[in-house]
Amino acid sequence: MLSVDFTNDLNQIGKMKRVRNILYKGYNRMKKIVLCLSLLITSFYSVAQDLTTVEVSSQKAAGDVYMLTGAGGNIGVLATDQGLLLVDDQFQPLAEKIEAAMKSIKNNQLKYIVNTHYHGDHIGSNAHFSQYAPIVAHENVRNRLMKKEKHQTSSLPVVTYQDGLKIHLAKEEIQLTHLPSGHTDGDSIVYFKKANVLHTGDLFFQGRFPYIDLDGGGSVRGYLNNVNYMIEHTPDDVVIIPGHGELTNKIELKLFAQMLKYSIEHVSNALTAGKTEQEILAAGIGDQYKGLAWHFITEERWLKTLIRDLN
Ligand SMILES: [Zn+2]
Repeated sequence: MLSVDFTNDLNQIGKMKRVRNILYKGYNRMKKIVLCLSLLITSFYSVAQDLTTVEVSSQKAAGDVYMLTGAGGNIGVLATDQGLLLVDDQFQPLAEKIEAAMKSIKNNQLKYIVNTHYHGDHIGSNAHFSQYAPIVAHENVRNRLMKKEKHQTSSLPVVTYQDGLKIHLAKEEIQLTHLPSGHTDGDSIVYFKKANVLHTGDLFFQGRFPYIDLDGGGSVRGYLNNVNYMIEHTPDDVVIIPGHGELTNKIELKLFAQMLKYSIEHVSNALTAGKTEQEILAAGIGDQYKGLAWHFITEERWLKTLIRDLN
């Protein structure tokens, strides 16, 4: 009896231990899940909160053309007596602030929206603004947005082109020119002829290393060719709205081209000399340009982009 009871007790203790182990593992897993969830919620909340506190402000570029800044790619606004034209529209949560900033320049009807390329920080408010006016872009912008699983039909460009297009609004001629693979495979630059203002899209990151979207059809050498195209095909006194950074000019665009040329040669030479990725990263980009690193494109990420595309 006793021994049987004892065995039973041992069995009971064994069972309890197993149950406890299962419960303990479950509890640990639960703890991890709760931690992951709270991290997700926190990061989502901080992003959402960041955008709710963002102010959208405007400054004059030249003539009737203005630059709006908030979060994401710089916005261009042409404000005329016959209506408004918008170049890029940042993120969806900013749509109403962008609209208010645009209307505060001139309270007129929005006539056209232009997308310089397909990235979310340039087209995020498309669905909002497409209720007022058609979206115009290179055909690869529409193609790439359509491939996104959760795209909204209302966010797609409805007028597309291959090489370029001119829009005439009031006395302004807006020249949209597609340039071959550079930042993506659907980049356009927007030149306001009368105002002499160029919106470069993301073919110019003022004061910082550029992002080149190799998976979105971009190319490092193509990017430099496109920057050179902009230098050769605009007047010397052109006012430049870069994709990111401050309102600027051709002197800075030329310095940017020099940095790109230097970076390409620097990494190509190292690769030709048989240097490994680790050796190239350890050597760095050089003192002259390392200050162009920023949170999104660090020196390492810039070098890795160059290595990947030039190898
Ligand atoms: Zn971009």
